[in-house]
Amino acid sequence: MIIFGTRGVKSTLKEGTFHCPQCATQQNYKHKKVTKFFTLYFIPIIPLERLGDFVECQSCRGTFIAKVLDYQKQPSADQFLSEYEKAMKHSMVLMMLADGEIDENEMLTVQKIINKFGHNDVTLDELEEYVEEVKHRNEDITTYLKKVGPALNEHGKEIVIKCALSVAAADGNIDPEEIKMIEKMARIMEVSSTHLKGIIMEVTQPATQTFSQN
Ligand SMILES: [Zn+2]
Repeated sequence: MIIFGTRGVKSTLKEGTFHCPQCATQQNYKHKKVTKFFTLYFIPIIPLERLGDFVECQSCRGTFIAKVLDYQKQPSADQFLSEYEKAMKHSMVLMMLADGEIDENEMLTVQKIINKFGHNDVTLDELEEYVEEVKHRNEDITTYLKKVGPALNEHGKEIVIKCALSVAAADGNIDPEEIKMIEKMARIMEVSSTHLKGIIMEVTQPATQTFSQN
């Protein structure tokens, strides 16, 4: 049997120092590109197309669009809030809303994740306010991710999915409806089903249940 497929391969275009919006200090960065390769027996053989590029902070591992390199002065705190940070917050809230009711546990999980990943800590009250705002906008997760998906790099997409999984698992088990929704999210963001399986494994395996950013 011949096993073939495609895979995104990362390579570094450039390295240097930049003002990291997340660390809020000068840090080393790597400007990486992701190229889609045709794989044979899981080995990348032929480069097919460039999927995108991103700038990765070597300290916090936050990832940003390349434009961040143009910006060297003091940025305002929100200006460069990385896209994934916004996307993960929004997706988690949509995930919470998916089953109709929000329980305390879910709220605490979401708060914990936001405060772990982001640089804009939220209180439970602020989170409740944000939930109301999202409810009010009444936007389907598909519509939302279609808008932000293209701005996310591989790392960002992975984090969005991991966060959604953690919210789904907050009530003790991930039910089929929730899996369906996560599969839908993955499809919209063009995360392959194999990659998604890997992410699910990583999150649900008891040994790695604690949340890791990498
Ligand atoms: Zn950083």
